[in-house]
Amino acid sequence: MTTSLGTFAPIATRYRRLNRTALIGMGLFIVAAWLVGFLHLRSQWVAVIILPLWGGSMVALILAHSCLKCPDCAVSLDRTNGLVCPECGSRALSDGGLCRPPTCNHCGCTLRNGRGRSYRIRYCNHCGSHLDVEGV
Ligand SMILES: [Zn+2]
Ligand SMILES: [Zn+2]
Repeated sequence: MTTSLGTFAPIATRYRRLNRTALIGMGLFIVAAWLVGFLHLRSQWVAVIILPLWGGSMVALILAHSCLKCPDCAVSLDRTNGLVCPECGSRALSDGGLCRPPTCNHCGCTLRNGRGRSYRIRYCNHCGSHLDVEGV
């Protein structure tokens, strides 16, 4: 099995930092939205404070996911149509259906995507390269 621990480390760092930025931005956005409502601020404050926070968080999130690619096969790690379990690296994934995400017969994880990922990425889902020890 190949390993990309070295080449993936800066990508993982960048992904974690962007994800954290997005999370903080969303947190501030919620606080600001609450403040605007609570203090009955004028609507131009909404545009000045809230829109950049929301926009910045969205951009950070998009950037985070666009940089999440396997250094070996260059496939986006958000995709789960490969054969390798991203959690344990075994090729024991069961086929998912339209409404059923693929599950791993080895470690039991379910590859649910969309609103919050249900698994950590340690291996590439496509080429099986070892990417991160902790997982992102
Ligand atoms: Zn697994
Ligand atoms: Zn790969």
